[in-house]
Amino acid sequence: MARVNNWQLGREMAYWYPENRPQKQFAAVFDINKCIACQTCTLACKTTWTSGKGQEYMLWNNVESKPYGFYPLAWDLKLLQMLGGANWVKGVYPGQTIFESAPAGKRALGWRPEERDYAYPNVGEDDCAGQIENGAGLQVPHLTWFFYLARICNHCTYPSCLASCPRGSIYKRQEDGIVLVDQGRCHGYQECVQACPYKKVFFNPLTGTSEKCIACFPKIEKGLQPQCFVNCIGKIRMAGWISAPDKANPDNPIDYLVHIRKVARPLFPQFGLEPNVYYIPPIHAPDSFLHQMFGPGTKEAIEVYRNTPNDPDLAALMCLFGCSEKVMPRWKRTGDVVMGMEEDGTEIVRVPVREPVHIRQAFDQKHQIARINCP
Ligand code: SF4
Ligand code: SF4
Repeated sequence: MARVNNWQLGREMAYWYPENRPQKQFAAVFDINKCIACQTCTLACKTTWTSGKGQEYMLWNNVESKPYGFYPLAWDLKLLQMLGGANWVKGVYPGQTIFESAPAGKRALGWRPEERDYAYPNVGEDDCAGQIENGAGLQVPHLTWFFYLARICNHCTYPSCLASCPRGSIYKRQEDGIVLVDQGRCHGYQECVQACPYKKVFFNPLTGTSEKCIACFPKIEKGLQPQCFVNCIGKIRMAGWISAPDKANPDNPIDYLVHIRKVARPLFPQFGLEPNVYYIPPIHAPDSFLHQMFGPGTKEAIEVYRNTPNDPDLAALMCLFGCSEKVMPRWKRTGDVVMGMEEDGTEIVRVPVREPVHIRQAFDQKHQIARINCP
């Protein structure tokens, strides 16, 4: 195995191929606090890519309620049980990744879901941790909690689906870091299904091949954000490009959120894949649960996020989520206005940080019409 640098672990790790980072890496930030579990993203993806025969159970994008929701069933719990709890020492993960703990004959520690594990896509939906006494209302701060976790393929820097494929059918594109399955080469061995810890590769029993989220690459190639991003009702998502931490550029919105302000965290970094979807953690769930899920720095990320109203730059950048169909590789705040821009500085969109309030006259003289019911 090669030695590669995984900045999310704070150390080098063993991987099956030498480090070969793409020219650009597709990445995303999801603000968990804004997700309302409307599943519009799920349907946007489903109607675009997986409405065919053999794809009925496939949800390349899904949204589950944590702590009791999973798709497939117990996808994270099973692997966490196999891998053991993650103890971080000063930002470094000294434990084993799924590559370093692979059993003999396998390239990664993993398990393959059974058909029935895919039978309950909204198990645990809106179930909260803890109990609410009979007749009691919710209290603030909440003693009980749940949150919605929207998930797509992480287009990992060190994909275990790719590492485990005996046919070499899975590849990571140099131009954008998107991970794809070559349908012509795939023989349906499902090693990738077993090895992906996020369970984001799905087997199609009719074609006999594995399929996965393609990050809507035909849209990305045109500078547009994927379907699940532009249809997101809660405007929780931003797609873009991430740099290595030592090359972080504050003018790049993803770099700013992940590397500079450190307000967004990867999902289960201890697995060792360097996933490229980052989450602004929920502000109301217990530290220990979030620490296990998003690693060290989660508590600090929540502090930064809570302070957003006193932080003009971060507050402005948050206004760019969901405001354009285009990918915005650059951003800039000027006073109370924030701009999303192309790499060369061409303006894509301009958003006021404070929404202007317009009070309409009850009676519109020009059009001779009553604008509200109760003048
Ligand atoms: S999330 Fe899973 S399917 Fe996606 S690149 Fe990573 S290992 Fe592969
Ligand atoms: S569309 Fe957005 S708000 Fe709705 S479930 Fe998906 S991620 Fe959450």
